Amino acid sequence: MRTMSAQHVRADVCVVGLGPTGRALAHRAMRAGLDVVAVDPRPGRLWPPTFSCWVDELPEWLPGSAIAQRIEAPVVWTKSAHRIERPYCVLSKQGLYEALSLDDATVLAGRAARVERHRVDLQDGSAVTAAAVFDTRGLPSPGPRRTAGAHGIFVDAERAAPMVGEGEGLLLDWRDENGAGPGEPPSFLYSVPLGDGTVIFEETSLGLRGGMPQHELRRRTLNRLAAHGIRLRGDEPSEAAHYPLDQPPPKRGAAGPIPFGSRGGMMHPCTGYSVADSLALVDTAIEALRTGGDPVAALWPWQARLVYWMRMRGLYGLGRLTTAQSISMFDAFFTASPRQQRALLSAHDDYAPLGGVLFMTVARTWPFRWRYDLVGWTNRNRWVGYEYALAETEPSVGPGDEDDVSSRPTG
Ligand SMILES: Cc1cc2nc3c(=O)[nH]c(=O)nc-3n(C[C@H](O)[C@H](O)[C@H](O)COP(=O)(O)OP(=O)(O)OC[C@H]3O[C@@H](n4cnc5c(N)ncnc54)[C@H](O)[C@@H]3O)c2cc1C
Repeated sequence: MRTMSAQHVRADVCVVGLGPTGRALAHRAMRAGLDVVAVDPRPGRLWPPTFSCWVDELPEWLPGSAIAQRIEAPVVWTKSAHRIERPYCVLSKQGLYEALSLDDATVLAGRAARVERHRVDLQDGSAVTAAAVFDTRGLPSPGPRRTAGAHGIFVDAERAAPMVGEGEGLLLDWRDENGAGPGEPPSFLYSVPLGDGTVIFEETSLGLRGGMPQHELRRRTLNRLAAHGIRLRGDEPSEAAHYPLDQPPPKRGAAGPIPFGSRGGMMHPCTGYSVADSLALVDTAIEALRTGGDPVAALWPWQARLVYWMRMRGLYGLGRLTTAQSISMFDAFFTASPRQQRALLSAHDDYAPLGGVLFMTVARTWPFRWRYDLVGWTNRNRWVGYEYALAETEPSVGPGDEDDVSSRPTG
């Protein structure tokens, strides 16, 4: 990896933003023999969030060292427990970072001020000219857009064991344990061991316009832990998520740089995941470049655009359901065939089974009138403008009372 001070650099490819997707793109372009320049204000920093995905989504070129923890059959709790026989994993930040080395690329530690189709200007006066510029700067804050919100608390594995043991995982836990009433916006718990001696407990809301406040998500996470008799030390670190779910794919033939990763339509509207799909698509983009094709056309054939469009219907549905309706809907979804489940959760362009599973999920949702909410004929804006209770002092976090938790910044 070469780093440089202000100057004008020329390359085959310039990648602006070294999140996991930009780094993967720069790494694979470099390995394909292209001359690569990458720009990020802090290129040596490990990414703050903990990334997970289904194991079968990861590209073959990624070494096993990128995985920190495997979960052979994660569980989804709706009205009952569904064991999903599909290995899931938590990525190792260090392992992934090292697997995406940039040893033969030029890395500029700086912030891009202007990003154009063939040119990038940095704030420090440097400039890059490249045959192709990829914009991998991630997503802006969501404002009132449809949002993924989560508050995760990292708990020692030993303390977490009554709820999530070694090698287990709760992908979506909809049990009635978060203290939210039926008239409040829904959220579920996500909890997996991270492979470093801790387990993350993360209350998550998907699809609400503007998202759910952190203090509300934290309150719900603590309620869940308390329901299982889990007492915290009080100084556990936490993480926060708050980002938009509705970033569209780039238009064909649009002027400007090529958006890629979460910025380029790869954020899954219904799950809030983008990392594995983006990793899997980097070679498609690079191959298009190498053969003189259009990366946007290669990444976004009509099948993939149709899949995106259908997932957006799912996102609209998610954002207006009550907790009881969400449970009923997920109950219906997780009885679908593995291929149909995959078509919604992962596959980039498997449109026919996705159409099937969306139709089936609506058709199996019961009572009948709830289907009108699902498709948006009724209660279309149910939670828009919902007023959450203000933040309050945190309750004790389990039986006994000596281990009260105080509010702490997330990060
Ligand atoms: C708490 C949390 C948990 C999550 N869990 C998961 C998960 O389990 N699985 C999953 O797939 N996704 C998860 N996500 C979503 C995940 O963060 C995104 O999917 C992922 O980070 C998108 O990667 P990216 O490379 O597209 O963008 P980012 O990770 O946002 O990276 C963008 C990069 O661009 C750089 N940049 C920004 N502006 C400029 C500029 N002007 N010039 C140069 N560089 C710039 C930034 O410094 C950053 O390095 C989670 C998010 C959070 C917050």
